[in-house]
Amino acid sequence: MRVALVLIVELKKRPITRGRTTTSTRTIFEGVIIMAPSSLQAKILQTAEALTERMKGEKPSLFSKSRWLRLILDLAMEDHEFKVDMFHFVDALPMLTTNEQVSQHVRDYRLHEKRALPLWASAVFKMASNPLTAAPAVATIRTIVTEIAKTFIVGRDTAEALATLRRLHEEGFAFTTDLLGESTVSAAEARQYQARYLDLIRCLAQEVPRWQADAVIDNNHLGPIPRANISLKLSALEAHLDSVDTEGSVARLKERVLPIFLLAQQNNVFVNLDVETWELHGITYDLFEEIVTHPDLRSYPHVGIVVQAYLKTAHEDMQRLLDLVRKRGTPITVRLVKGAYWDYEVVHARQHGYPCPVFTRKADTDANYERLTVMLLQHFEELSPAFASHNLRSLVHALVQAEERNVPPLAYEVQMLYGMAEPERKAVRSMGRRVRVYAPIGELLLGMAYLVRRLLENTANTSFLRSRYHEGTDIASLMATPQSSISFNG
Ligand SMILES: Cc1cc2nc3c(=O)[nH]c(=O)nc-3n(C[C@H](O)[C@H](O)[C@H](O)COP(=O)(O)OP(=O)(O)OC[C@H]3O[C@@H](n4cnc5c(N)ncnc54)[C@H](O)[C@@H]3O)c2cc1C
Repeated sequence: MRVALVLIVELKKRPITRGRTTTSTRTIFEGVIIMAPSSLQAKILQTAEALTERMKGEKPSLFSKSRWLRLILDLAMEDHEFKVDMFHFVDALPMLTTNEQVSQHVRDYRLHEKRALPLWASAVFKMASNPLTAAPAVATIRTIVTEIAKTFIVGRDTAEALATLRRLHEEGFAFTTDLLGESTVSAAEARQYQARYLDLIRCLAQEVPRWQADAVIDNNHLGPIPRANISLKLSALEAHLDSVDTEGSVARLKERVLPIFLLAQQNNVFVNLDVETWELHGITYDLFEEIVTHPDLRSYPHVGIVVQAYLKTAHEDMQRLLDLVRKRGTPITVRLVKGAYWDYEVVHARQHGYPCPVFTRKADTDANYERLTVMLLQHFEELSPAFASHNLRSLVHALVQAEERNVPPLAYEVQMLYGMAEPERKAVRSMGRRVRVYAPIGELLLGMAYLVRRLLENTANTSFLRSRYHEGTDIASLMATPQSSISFNG
């Protein structure tokens, strides 16, 4: 299953319309109203203004580095139909190996006609649609997509990526790296992926000790933490994952995943399990529980998993992890995210007629993120918090809540994706907080689903980065408390 492709095909059939964007806060963040100032809210606004001051009007790579990326994002934000067809095209491109196949796709999706595109884009698609002129146009398209992908990917292979990881470290940022690849289709591919991870661990273990010391990113409040940090996606490690056969799926995965955790422990490398779609949620949590309670790993603290705040089960997930830590007697890290598969989950649930696992109001996800932030901070000695977001409101809320609760600054960290929010990450780091950059490594082909998720996320009219950098919404509006109608128990 290719998540991005399934999603785009479905979006094409039944587009999800979220209304036109205006700069009014009420429209951008459905359900958000600026609350009467409380001392917490006042502190959030004050901290956000101080951070913004440190950003000196800089823009993230996403909106500044690649001219092509800016153009594609602009076009996608203006025209929903074009966005759906365009992202479908980007997703399919690596599989269209000949010029004729690209040309056919352009014709099938009529990318070359009846679109309000800038002249240059119309000309490229028109040329690509004609077999006689396709070659230079297809070459241009491939160059553009490759350039766009580079904004989000640190290198095609480990050797290329190491230079960027080292540069990040010199600039004061920790990293977690992930080998792009998901939804593996064969056992051979999964074995190959596991072997690449084992090589990555060995390679990082050799490389990172040579780097200069940095007290903020090399330590937490208790002492040194691993410099090398990897993130794993389970769908790339086993071809036959089935939520109906959780036990069998976990058993098969364990054979591939356990050796990665054991080698990581031997080499002082941190391992995080990323959480993907709802179908894999139960399998991922069950597997994590089995791995971290394994007799050889029980006392290894440098392991982590993700909680997705958009899930209606997120609070139970957090409680389950707390119980797990109490059972095993060693802390773990929890990366708190909102969730990267929102469009897919909504479409998939509708398509299969099961209850939607995610909130469908952005304010509910944002409010849940803040509620889980507080829960993490209350238990920071058992669940080391890693706040992963590019939303300044979500992050500043976490920083202020941590300060209010006297949580030591190095007891938690902030995480951001490579290419997404450089001004924010520099500003947070300049306040003496540990910031970790999620840095994917991989070939264009393997990176396409990841690229499409980033494009979808940043062109959604609920996106924080879009509101801030594309719509130019002011900080006070962006710092509004998310107003949720959901009553949170527990
Ligand atoms: C370091 C790092 C690691 C990550 N790892 C993972 C991972 O393992 N698994 C994973 O799933 N994601 C992961 N993500 C992605 C993350 O889940 C978000 O997709 C991304 O960070 C955007 O959220 P935001 O808070 O930055 O931005 P915002 O713009 O504030 O939030 C966007 C998010 O809000 C949610 N949303 C959008 N519209 C609605 C709506 N109508 N109703 C309800 N909710 C809505 C979606 O989750 C969307 O991604 C990671 C992100 C980072 C920074």
